[in-house]
Amino acid sequence: MPIYEYKCDVCGHEFEELVLSSSAENPPCPECKSPDTAKMLSSFSSGASFDDPVPATPPGGGCGSSGFS
Ligand SMILES: [Zn+2]
Repeated sequence: MPIYEYKCDVCGHEFEELVLSSSAENPPCPECKSPDTAKMLSSFSSGASFDDPVPATPPGGGCGSSGFS
């Protein structure tokens, strides 16, 4: 489930919001109720990605290179 982080432009409060659908509206700040919030670009939980390294490219050429004559 997509959870986005937002930061309030007014009081600087940072909060997470679960976004169920593609809503264009930013959620209001839970602290000061201001609608002036900005979505922060963050990748899921910070630090969690280090435990699960994704193989960038498969080794070798593969794809029919051995059968090429
Ligand atoms: Zn605020």
